[in-house]
Amino acid sequence: MTPSGETFRPEIRREGIAVSPGIAIGRAYLVGRDSIKAPRHHVESEEVEDEIARLHRAIVTSDRQLEKVKQKLASENESDFHIISAHQMMLHDEHLVDAAIGYIRDEKINAEWALRRAVDDIRAVFDAIEDTYFRERASDVEFVFERILRNLLGRETGPLAPPPDAIVVAYDLSPADTAQLHRAAVAGLLTDAGGKTSHTAIIARAHEIPAVVGLEDITEVVESDDLMIVDGSTGVVIVNPTRETVVEYRDEQRRQAAAGAVLMSNRDLPARTRDGVAIQLYANIDGPDEIEGAIAHGAVGVGLTRTEYLFMTSDRVPDEDTHYRQAVDVIDRMRGRPVTLRTFDLGADKLAGFLEGEVEEANPALGLRSIRLCLTDLGRPLFKTQLRGLLRASAHGALRIMFPMISGIGELRAAKVVLEEVKEELRREQIPFDEQVKVGIMIEMPSAALTADMLAREADFFSIGTNDLIQYTMAVDRVNEMVSYLYEPLHPALLRLIAGVAKAARAHNVPVTVCGEMAGDAMVAPVLVGLGIHEMSMSAVSIPEVKGTLRTITVSEVEKLCARVLDLPTANDVRDAVAAYLDELGMQRGTGS
Ligand code: PEP
Ligand code: MG
Repeated sequence: MTPSGETFRPEIRREGIAVSPGIAIGRAYLVGRDSIKAPRHHVESEEVEDEIARLHRAIVTSDRQLEKVKQKLASENESDFHIISAHQMMLHDEHLVDAAIGYIRDEKINAEWALRRAVDDIRAVFDAIEDTYFRERASDVEFVFERILRNLLGRETGPLAPPPDAIVVAYDLSPADTAQLHRAAVAGLLTDAGGKTSHTAIIARAHEIPAVVGLEDITEVVESDDLMIVDGSTGVVIVNPTRETVVEYRDEQRRQAAAGAVLMSNRDLPARTRDGVAIQLYANIDGPDEIEGAIAHGAVGVGLTRTEYLFMTSDRVPDEDTHYRQAVDVIDRMRGRPVTLRTFDLGADKLAGFLEGEVEEANPALGLRSIRLCLTDLGRPLFKTQLRGLLRASAHGALRIMFPMISGIGELRAAKVVLEEVKEELRREQIPFDEQVKVGIMIEMPSAALTADMLAREADFFSIGTNDLIQYTMAVDRVNEMVSYLYEPLHPALLRLIAGVAKAARAHNVPVTVCGEMAGDAMVAPVLVGLGIHEMSMSAVSIPEVKGTLRTITVSEVEKLCARVLDLPTANDVRDAVAAYLDELGMQRGTGS
């Protein structure tokens, strides 16, 4: 006991997966989701129909509740909106409802128990799948179960109501809960479950709430109202921090806030090097609802719209109008700034409902993904539908269409044949589109990088997707933790490929952008400039820092630096050389950093 009578609780540190940066200090708000259990008892034969009616009523009530949440979100957040629609569909899924009714009838058990068993059956199928993305989707089934269960039991299902600035601690959070937590301006989020692709992570990042997931047992360690620190950049979580620790993190929080404010103040400054070369910094987005943030961080355009999220966040395949409306929305919200939409890049770790059971592959990252899928009988109708939507949108404002994962000239030509067919259809139907619409490609595999000179003759622009280019150059699965040490943006092999693509693009007067994550690393961006890249696209939050660094360099210096680093044998050597150059700049400017 402490002198004040409280029980002394030591400082505890845990480390999880850092998914959304920033430091939060606040009191724990424990979401006791796992505390409600489904009661189990048998029912008499004459009670069976009543149990089934109870189940139906609880499903209808759950549907209405989700509809309300969805309507509130409709105008603000499209991705959350789609996720909640998917949950509504699950409520009526025959595998769930019919199976539960079957258990009530056949085994004469109560609705709660029957529902639990039906959910367990579905979970067993999900759990058997090795893919992390799919396993994480099993939590969606649990969210739906819990909502029906609460309605069966007459327990409150309203939105979570943490006090302002609380740190929400949960086993897992449903997208509906997470979206509402954002409204309540919580300070941080922590979950036992989840990975980088979990919805909690996606939404936390989009809303800039510091978050750490995959903590395994944080709900066991924390008690409600415990003082906590969340470091969303390192994944460190501290429960009951000592006074010294709090002081240390408050200082760091202030430092980060000040640094962030200084960086954000460059929002309206051009990204121009000291010797006057303009570098264009664009944003990568998953949908129109991210545009406000992109502009706020100083993006001068959208360099990559990952349109596949339209397929991933809904059970329904998007129709032509959906593609059209999304593209027009992006154009409108960017108010005249350039916009690039990539045709859907599904497969490997990005899955959609319509692919379920259709393609089973031993090596999905090397398989039927992306443009390859679009050129098959399975993908072509959806590809054409999307192209019709995008072309129609091109009449509305400037947009560029980009094909992902092009391996070489044959595939580019095949994709363009489909595009021409669609254009011809539109002409016949007298539907307007921009006849001059620019059509470019992503360069994300060595075969494309090494034939960039040929591709440059037939593509209007290039965008180098280094996330995949690293994966395919280094033969390292980009989502496999065990080989992540090989996932190295500054590897000489990668730098040589980028330099080759930039050179071919320049020779043929083809604009070239880098849109992989490495563009958003302020230490790496100067190297890209030195290799001849003057356009980059990145997560909007990275723009201020990258711009800050680019404004301190000169193109002539970084070109000289790159001429040297291209001959260095390892990524570490390259990193040291770049760090020395940036340090030197810092010292010249009197900051010493
Ligand atoms: C890339 O591969 O670098 C890229 C931007 O595309 P994605 O991350 O969507 O595969
Ligand atoms: Mg890619």
